[in-house]
Amino acid sequence: MTELINFVYLLSAVLFMLGLMKLSSPATARLGNKLSMAGMALAITATLLNPEISSFKMIIIGIAVGTVIGAVAAIRVKMTSMPEMVALFNGCGGAASALVALAEFQSAGSSFSSFNMVTLILSVIVGSLTFTGSVIAFGKLQGLVPSRPVCYPGQQVVNALILLAVAVLGVVVYQDPANLLFFYGIIGISLLLGVLAVIPIGGADMPVIISLLNSYSGVAVAMTGFALANNALIVVGSLVGASGLFLTKIMCDAMNRSLANVLFGAFGSGDSAGGGEEVAGGSGGSVKGYELEDVATVLENAGSLIVVPGYGMAAAQAQHVVRELCDYLEEQGVEVRYAIHPVAGRMPGHMNVLLAEADVSYDLLFAMEDINDDFSDTDAVLVIGANDVVNPAAKTNSSSPIFGMPILNVDEARTVIVLKRSMNPGFAGIENELFLKDNTMMLFGDAKKSVRDLLSALKE
Ligand code: NDP
Repeated sequence: MTELINFVYLLSAVLFMLGLMKLSSPATARLGNKLSMAGMALAITATLLNPEISSFKMIIIGIAVGTVIGAVAAIRVKMTSMPEMVALFNGCGGAASALVALAEFQSAGSSFSSFNMVTLILSVIVGSLTFTGSVIAFGKLQGLVPSRPVCYPGQQVVNALILLAVAVLGVVVYQDPANLLFFYGIIGISLLLGVLAVIPIGGADMPVIISLLNSYSGVAVAMTGFALANNALIVVGSLVGASGLFLTKIMCDAMNRSLANVLFGAFGSGDSAGGGEEVAGGSGGSVKGYELEDVATVLENAGSLIVVPGYGMAAAQAQHVVRELCDYLEEQGVEVRYAIHPVAGRMPGHMNVLLAEADVSYDLLFAMEDINDDFSDTDAVLVIGANDVVNPAAKTNSSSPIFGMPILNVDEARTVIVLKRSMNPGFAGIENELFLKDNTMMLFGDAKKSVRDLLSALKE
């Protein structure tokens, strides 16, 4: 039976890897999800074949409760609340690993080999801190916990001392596995560490932290897998750990920030609503606000158009009407494409998800590196609630906090139309010279209303 179970685990591992590979493109992402779901179904079935299972009662209750919670969450949670849901799921993964490790320790702790004991202790530490860290991340995104960084003098020293205390307790438990009290101590202090590590990070940085916590939850699962000698947990945990780490790196690179800066820099200290101080064209240039009809005329006469969505499109929920506008322009013979910056919006893949929800064809979506050279040969660019990801300061101003961040070269197009409500900055809180350029037309207003009005004007 063990051979059969391990063979099925191997099959499910292959399905997980294929699933992950398919997730790399919006066109194949749905298939990727289905493959991964099939892999998980196989892994669960194989686990249920384990002859060591003496009663299925609690397992059936667990599956029923989990299925109801998962189904309700999947149906009811809005696309824009995905980061919160992922945070909670990460927390559940961490808590599950820690609980399994605790149960194993209570039942067979003193008979463990050195290696198993080390992995078990690591599982409980990483799982516990992932749980509370994820709950705090969820709370920050939901506004239940202050989203600004909560900092106090000597914070990093305190956190380092707590980490040291966990490590010392880990050594003590390793040497004296019969001492349950110290084991509970590790759990308690790790739970505290999760809270203290996440509260100094600003709410707007939560997507990066959630991606990192996702990686941690994978590490906790893999450690539990080693402790239980369960191959499926080892493979799945390693895949989640590695992919979460890659995603964290991709996001940090696209924001031109180091992980250390995200963890300890207290950047993005406000909420994630794109608010901030009004800049009102402070660098001496003048901002040109245009009438709807002027902008409609430019769109009407454009042969090619690139749409650049940003956080404001998500905030305005303008994706459906944007698709309608683009469909109309395409019918009129305009070549329309969408340029997607990797960190546009407030979560990885935010723009892809919204545009997919509005049924925008995948063929029209272009990643930054695939479209950036085309702006100089494009008649018009429609920037919808994007700001930092099109800010030329990232290329030209070495003192700018976003200097070095790769941006979309929209300023090279013949005409740039920017839809936003005011001169307020974006996430980075800095002014944007793009709005002052001669070839830029500002159309102030809520993105959804502006796009709807533009469509009506074009149809008249
Ligand atoms: P920004 O945050 O730079 O700008 C968004 C703009 O949208 C604001 O200037 C705001 O201006 C405008 N806006 C807000 N609401 C509306 C509305 N209803 N209608 C029209 N406009 C609106 O967004 P970008 O997408 O350009 O950049 C994303 C930023 O977030 C980057 O700095 C990135 O590093 C950061 N980030 C991204 C993460 C990710 O995973 N994608 C995670 C964490 C941070 P106004 O108020 O004047 O309308």
